[in-house]
Amino acid sequence: PVSRDPEIQKARMELPICREEQLIMETINENPTVIICGETGSGKTTQVPQFLYEAGYGNPNSDNPGMIGITQPRRVAAVSMSKRVAYELGLTDEEVSYQIRYDTTTSPKTVIKFMTDGVLLRELSSDFLLSKYSVIIIDEAHERNLNTDILIGVVSRILRLRDELSQEQKGKIKPLKIIIMSATLRVSDFTENNTLFKIPPPVLKIEARQYEVNIHFSRRTAQYDYVTKAYKKVCQIHRKLPSGGILVFQTGQNEISTLCKKLRKRFPLTPPTKSRYSNELGQEEEMSLSETLEGIREKLTAKNADVEVEEVSIGDFDITESNDQDIEDEFDTFDSDLDEPSEKDEEDEDLPLYVLPLYSLLSTEVQLRVFQPPPQGTRLCVVATNVAETSLTIPGIKYVVDCGKVKERQYDVNTGVQSYTINWTSKASADQRAGRAGRTGPGHCYRLYSSAVFNDQFPQFTLPEILRMPIEGVVLQMKSMNIDIVANFPFPTPPDRVQLRRAEKLLQYLSALDDNGRITDLGKLMAQFPVQPRFSKMLIIGQQHGCLPYIITIVAALSVGDPFIREDNLDSSKDLEENDKETDEVEDKMREMEIDEQELAGIDNLDIAEKERRRLRRKKFYEVHMKHAGRDPSSDFLKLLNVVGAYEYAGATDKFCEENFVRAKTMYETHKLRGQITNIVQVNCPGANVYVDPKMGPPSSLQLKAIRQIITAGFIDQVAIRKGLLDKTANTYSSTRGIAYRIMLTDEDVYIHPSSVLYHQKPPDFVVYQELQRTSKVWMKGVFNEDRA
Ligand code: ADP
Ligand code: MG
Repeated sequence: PVSRDPEIQKARMELPICREEQLIMETINENPTVIICGETGSGKTTQVPQFLYEAGYGNPNSDNPGMIGITQPRRVAAVSMSKRVAYELGLTDEEVSYQIRYDTTTSPKTVIKFMTDGVLLRELSSDFLLSKYSVIIIDEAHERNLNTDILIGVVSRILRLRDELSQEQKGKIKPLKIIIMSATLRVSDFTENNTLFKIPPPVLKIEARQYEVNIHFSRRTAQYDYVTKAYKKVCQIHRKLPSGGILVFQTGQNEISTLCKKLRKRFPLTPPTKSRYSNELGQEEEMSLSETLEGIREKLTAKNADVEVEEVSIGDFDITESNDQDIEDEFDTFDSDLDEPSEKDEEDEDLPLYVLPLYSLLSTEVQLRVFQPPPQGTRLCVVATNVAETSLTIPGIKYVVDCGKVKERQYDVNTGVQSYTINWTSKASADQRAGRAGRTGPGHCYRLYSSAVFNDQFPQFTLPEILRMPIEGVVLQMKSMNIDIVANFPFPTPPDRVQLRRAEKLLQYLSALDDNGRITDLGKLMAQFPVQPRFSKMLIIGQQHGCLPYIITIVAALSVGDPFIREDNLDSSKDLEENDKETDEVEDKMREMEIDEQELAGIDNLDIAEKERRRLRRKKFYEVHMKHAGRDPSSDFLKLLNVVGAYEYAGATDKFCEENFVRAKTMYETHKLRGQITNIVQVNCPGANVYVDPKMGPPSSLQLKAIRQIITAGFIDQVAIRKGLLDKTANTYSSTRGIAYRIMLTDEDVYIHPSSVLYHQKPPDFVVYQELQRTSKVWMKGVFNEDRA
């Protein structure tokens, strides 16, 4: 029996799903698979595991002794939901735990385990029957992530196996239950697919009390200036509309950083002293928004001080475009259906706004702040990517501002060329976003695009990820589970044939599959590592000349992602992270304000000082990059090795990250993954004798040669040849700028990306590349001079 805190119990009882507990449990008891659909925030993720727990699942003395496993597509959701459920049940984080790629709180006591879908897929390679679990909940199935789709296919098979085995060997093996949860009713790919589930599973619809959300389309569509438009909208909402949290959807870290900074400046957390904000100045400030840049400069030079100056002069906001009145007109009138007063008291005008960013690169700790109530006397404003669309329900949101866009990775299945493009999101997603405003009461959604654009240009649904991603990893995973004919696998949406063939071909190049497409011993070993097949190949052949510690480090870094802050983020990233650490620390804020005041003494001085500061920062940035590239730069991979080595050597500190323009979270995850891979190597390759040495010295020249060969073996299909070599043009260039290369998979010219250490070098005849990315051209990123290998 669970005894919950009365407060928690009360909050639970208000969740729509709790009214259906009995029906849900009966349906689960009577069916091997159940699909639960319910509006975001109805309580699926936090409550269903608790229902199961209370019904005895996970209790060693019950009929269902195995753990309750719940998968999430996003790490932040796995972590935050396990914490929430532990809190509601009054259990420890060992009992209700999480496991993500880099971190875990699991223990032998674990009863409920939240994990990313990737973690569960990986577990299959050592325990194909998932024998530790009595029930698997696959959450957020509507997102149609690659891993989620594959998991659904795999568990549908395990279900049958466990059933058969439990009948054969009574008592020893218990049947498995599967629960698929979705925020939308669009589940026909699961229910109407009889290779997946022979008998269509029952679908339980949770009727959620969703309050009315008024949708306000914009008269004009913000194609490119959606940061500016969002800023203005938030200002209006905050100044004019009654209390209630604001949730802004933006596309990525850059946009979020810029918007957060701007909003924090405009509505500081620590209210400025009266003397600085006389009424008169306050009005001045408001006017200034509707003035042109030059006009403001003049006024401010005269007035001599205003916090807005710096912001406006950054120049990435087109404040000249329209004034506030125009924007007001672009929307339907505010709150026509609300009886509440639309104008707030003058005094409240500068009510502090508690601005929080939310995107995946932020540390977990910072991400979790969105669940805490905002400080007294402030309004919450969360600026998020689509992580806030369905995985996390932020309490108290009443207003949603939606830019309508989403940053997506596109992948050309024929050539492997990737591109990150910002597109219109789907109608379904836009409606999810709007829905965030109606959880706790009637709300409003301000769409920064017109209804015509929405109707004509937004696709109905987002394409399942399996159609947009390289799949060699999952193909290898399946082969290691003895699924020989991958085309027969019960995919909810089958991948393209070309895509499948391409994946198998790559695995054959890597010798993971034999000519008949069957998995080799090498392939089986490769499947043990939580990294892409080409990286696991590098790990397995990396045991020459004591190179393995270097290869492990490079693979860890490549798998986590580029740690370097991009040049165009130089000015925003630092300030934002710092602010994030200090939002509550009023004293620091005060000190900051004093400095501001001094700096603001004269606008010209500020401009010069600021420019100088930025110039120096940029100079340091280049110096750091040159340092890590090494004296004789030949490879972006070795640059990565250098920076990770230096980080560990310096004691893995945040200070190092700051001074070297790398992201602390990325470095930390690389550090973790390096340890993890080292352990897996220890277990699987007993002769290797590797350990993590924080004081690892640089590789010798013999080792360097071996490292080059190992990397080439991993990227055997990704070699590019200088086009000039083919038509015998002399190579007299001193930079690779504008120098075309040719690759196997496409007839298009490709180029070395300017971020590469090879960019300012004499163009090599052969290079190996890590990935292709299309912007104005097709660029090779992560490049390696093959002439030296
Ligand atoms: P669903 O999975 O159906 O979208 P959830 O179970 O995630 O719904 O959320 C149910 C409720 O629990 C929401 O009102 C949400 O705000 C609240 N909640 C979830 N996590 C936390 C948390 N860490 N702190 C406070 N409230 C939370
Ligand atoms: Mg959920």
